[in-house]
Amino acid sequence: MADCHARRNAPSLLMVRFAHRRSQLHPLDAYKVSSGNHLGTPISLERFIDYGLWYQRAAVPDADTRKVCAIEPRGGKFQLTLEDGTDVTASRVIVAGGISAFATRPAAFDHVPAALATHTSEGPNLSRFVNKRLIVIGGGQSALESAALLHEVGAEVEVLVRRSHLHWLGWKERLRPLGAASGLLFSPTDVGPAGISRLVAAPDVLRRFPRSIQTRLRTLSIRPAGARWLRERLQTVPISTRTTVISAVPSNGSLRLILSDNSTRLVDHVILGTGYRVNITRYNFLSPSIFERLQVVDGFRRLGAAFESSIPGLHFLGAPAASSYGPLMYFVSGTKYAAAALFRHLSLSRSAAARAPVTPRMCCARTLCSTLAAPRAPL
Ligand SMILES: Cc1cc2nc3c(=O)[nH]c(=O)nc-3n(C[C@H](O)[C@H](O)[C@H](O)COP(=O)(O)OP(=O)(O)OC[C@H]3O[C@@H](n4cnc5c(N)ncnc54)[C@H](O)[C@@H]3O)c2cc1C
Repeated sequence: MADCHARRNAPSLLMVRFAHRRSQLHPLDAYKVSSGNHLGTPISLERFIDYGLWYQRAAVPDADTRKVCAIEPRGGKFQLTLEDGTDVTASRVIVAGGISAFATRPAAFDHVPAALATHTSEGPNLSRFVNKRLIVIGGGQSALESAALLHEVGAEVEVLVRRSHLHWLGWKERLRPLGAASGLLFSPTDVGPAGISRLVAAPDVLRRFPRSIQTRLRTLSIRPAGARWLRERLQTVPISTRTTVISAVPSNGSLRLILSDNSTRLVDHVILGTGYRVNITRYNFLSPSIFERLQVVDGFRRLGAAFESSIPGLHFLGAPAASSYGPLMYFVSGTKYAAAALFRHLSLSRSAAARAPVTPRMCCARTLCSTLAAPRAPL
């Protein structure tokens, strides 16, 4: 960015503190105690967000919320340019930038303006669609829950799904009467179908399987699916399976769709619950020189130990790590493995690098794009 001009060298160390670390209380219970009232059922969105912010303040009180607009390798380190133009230098960068950059829109919507078609990642305000005609595309949780909410606010909604049937989650609950046997089939991480869930919960084992098996297990674990509790809420919502949109053309403020069965729809808006395709070249804060040096296969990079990329000192967490560490990385429950693996690696790196002094500090922009000034890992 043109206005990124100030310069600052700041060795940094992510300071993770959690006030209740030594407490026996679950963080949610600690939050309840600290906020002095009960949560209610269901938990309201406001309280849920407040809990998230409370947790962040307790765990990472010095998080820097400035956006990172550029990361550039420089002299064996990394230079980060923040949104206000400040430059920060770090020996190590851990990118946990999430999936919003990877949102996918079907090609038919390439030229449709945002006023007529919104991806679920954009968090559309569904209450503005009262009495409007909408199509929701997709068979996953984002699409199905959006359809239920639209139906409940009084929109006329239809769901289009390209597969032959919907897939519903909830087998774990249904197998619960089996007792211990059901526990054997499902890991507490709760990612993947019965049996596979156990393998997915062990990324170090999964990584050793042939790539074709890893791909198959990933497909089974993250295929589009809806929570079983949505079924009842969608009972009167039309759902067309084996149906895709061939063309979408704006027409007098509405959108005219031609579907794969040759039928047409005239709607006020389309919600695209069409998911995400990991492609880190869409992280626009990474400099072109990083992409030149990264080993990228189909949008994924190959990551080594502790999520380190082919550029020493540059790590990727979350969905971009799934090609190397399996589908667990797409989920919150994967953070337990990821954080521990990273911490172990960085501790070892520090010892190996002649115990160079590390100055505590952190940069944790918008929660999870963090830098750590630990000495370099040995190559
Ligand atoms: C519909 C849906 C349902 C899901 N259901 C579940 C579920 O039931 N259970 C489960 O475990 N997981 C679920 N997930 C997955 C879960 O949301 C993710 O695993 C989790 O949010 C990933 O965390 P993350 O920190 O990697 O990314 P995010 O939570 O997306 O956080 C990324 C952060 O990086 C910040 N950021 C990005 N770019 C920059 C930048 N340039 N500068 C500074 N900051 C930046 C963003 O602002 C954001 O704060 C679901 C996801 C979806 C879409």
